[in-house]
Parts: sequence; structure tokens; C-alpha cells
Amino acid sequence: MRELVVDLGAIRENVRTVAAGVAPARLMAVVKADAYGHGLAPVARAMAEAGVDAFGVVDLDEARRLREAGIEQPVLAWIHGSDADFDWAVAAGVELGVGAADVLDRVAAAVERVRSASDAAAVAVVHLKADTGLGRGGALGADWAALVERAAAHERAGRVRVEGLWTHLANASPEADEAQFAAFDGAIAIARAAGLAPGVEHASSSGSIVAHPGQVRGMVRVGLALYGLSAFPERAPAELGLRPAMELAGEVVAVKRVPAGLGVSYGHRYVTPRETTLALVPLGYADGLPRAASGRAAASLRGRRYPVVGTIAMDQVVIDVGDDEVAVGDRAVLWGDPEAGHPSAQEWADAAGTICYEIVTRVGPRVRRRYVG
Ligand SMILES: *Cc1c(COP(=O)(O)O)cnc(C)c1O
Repeated sequence: MRELVVDLGAIRENVRTVAAGVAPARLMAVVKADAYGHGLAPVARAMAEAGVDAFGVVDLDEARRLREAGIEQPVLAWIHGSDADFDWAVAAGVELGVGAADVLDRVAAAVERVRSASDAAAVAVVHLKADTGLGRGGALGADWAALVERAAAHERAGRVRVEGLWTHLANASPEADEAQFAAFDGAIAIARAAGLAPGVEHASSSGSIVAHPGQVRGMVRVGLALYGLSAFPERAPAELGLRPAMELAGEVVAVKRVPAGLGVSYGHRYVTPRETTLALVPLGYADGLPRAASGRAAASLRGRRYPVVGTIAMDQVVIDVGDDEVAVGDRAVLWGDPEAGHPSAQEWADAAGTICYEIVTRVGPRVRRRYVG
């Protein structure tokens, strides 16, 4: 009665569209957070078939699941807790994003352990992260100079190979992004002066490949666009040549004709303005519908759009279909491809005061996943 349909064909098409748009730059597909809620293993396999060059994840558990899914492309992981299993990463050839010298030293120590335990030729492949103005991870100012010096020393000792230099944008404004690209160039110059000769530089994600096409460098790290979503709330995916891969649907489990003046759901935030027909769908905030969208969201049923009315509950929502026909067993789509007449994840985001990233990544575990295409 609840399903999340993921169209792997749409994902393959989006990969090809994005890859063609950024060529000759390489495409790293970002599949963190369970492939943005779409399901890591099936999505990564589809992306691999469509020819992505590498995968990006946040942590080593995600990297391990990619390897277990049979993914053989390079994998980069970039957030590491104090318990990160660098020995495994080095042995498995997983590439490591590193933005601090102490983390780099832990990685180098892992190389030494792997060498004595199993592989005398083990080396860690790292991508050094510069903070060019996002103010999160990555090394800033003097710390960057110290990080690249330290990396060069580890590289000379043969423990580490610096494969990449990277940064991430704040998207504060087009001018601020350009300032970050310029700061990135400065960081790259410092790294080269320290003796590093990295194979690739990367800074751009879904928004910046469109907003700053001249800055794609040797590789881009793209997530959202591959799932068919737009990083720009005011630009539909279709305008960018993308097709949303996710559809969240629920079965109508009850239908009733009700009089005018009936309070609907908790708090009676909706009162029927006239006699009408209400359809009950068993999806709620535990399944990822943002409660903050109560009273502002829509669903599609039998090819038409209707308001989702009243407070969104943990397990259910009510759709007001007016005088139209609806039957138990009908399929309601909460979000999907707007080109097919469904509300979009972006509309739900607008209704809840958030971004479409948050809508797709929060679908709950009791919604069954189904893969098509
Ligand atoms: C999530 C993430 C990306 C991908 O961003 P999209 O906007 O989804 O393309 C790229 N780089 C880093 C560091 C990220 O955390």
C-alpha cells in the first residue's frame, strides 16, 4: 500500500545528459545518504552501466556497501569519524578526502599497518580538501599550507599518493562562488609549490555545473541532477534535460462522502467547505511527508491533482477529491515527475519551506522500494 518507485532508466539518462554536458571533465556520481534516498546498490549499478567515472560518498560504511554491491569504479569518501577504518579503506583501494593534517597522519599510519599485515605495496590515495569559503570541512589558510607540506612528505615516503585537490562551494551568490574558484586556484598553486602534482581538481556539483560551466575543472561531483532534480527551485528538471527518478505513491485505503463543515485530521486545520469526497492514503510523516507541508501540498489521482488536506499525521493523509470519482485501491502519487502530471518533490519542498534534497532523502523505511526501467 506504500511504494517508492525508482526509475533506473531515468537515472541512466540523467547520467548520460550530465556526462555529455560536462565532458571532457570526468563525472563522479555522488551517492551518499542511500543515493539520496533512492537506494544505494541498484542506483549505483545503474549509474555504473551508464558510464560514471567514479563514485562519491560521505563515509567508509557507504564505500563498503558500494564495494559489496560490486562497484569497481574509484570511490571517494570524505567524512571520517574517530572510528573510521582506514586500514580497510587502504586495503580496499577506497580514496579518501582529507582536509586536516591529523587525519592524514592517521591514514599514513594505516598504510604502515596494511603493509606489514597484508600488502607490502599498499598506498593511500587521497584528495586534499581546501576550505575556499564554505567554512565547513577542509583546510584554510596556514592549515592548507601545512597540510600540503605534510602530504608531500608522506608522498615522498611512498605512503600516500595525492590524486586530487578539491573544494566545495557555499552558493552564497555567483560572485561569492567565483571568489571561491579563485581561492581554489590559489590553494592549487600552493600545493604545486609544495611539490604535489595531483591528477585531478574538482569543485563543482549539480548547481555549479549549470551556473559556472567554465569551472568544471577535471572532474565534477554531481548528485542531485543524476536523480533528475534541479538545484534551482525556479527551474524545472525538464528545463535542464533531466527526468525525476523517484515517485512516492500510496494506495487509497478508504473513501467517504462527507458533509460540509467536517473537521479533518488533528487540530481541525481543515474543515470541509462543502459536501465532498475524502480519500485516505496511508503515508505520513514517518514515511517522509513533511508535516510542515500540511495544508499546502498536493497529490495526483487518476491523472488529476488534488489538495492534501488537514494535518499530515504520522501514518496517513487525506485527499479532498471534491465530486470526482475515486475508489479504494486507486493509486495516489505524492511526488514524482511533473511532466507526467504529478506534484514534484520541489513543490513539496516549497510547501514545507525546505529544498528538494530534503524531500527525497527522508522517505521512511516502511515504504517498499520498487525498481523499474
Ligand atoms: C553532496 C555533495 C555533492 C553533490 O551535491 P549535489 O548538489 O547533490 O550535486 C558534492 N560535493 C560534496 C562535498 C557534497 O557533500
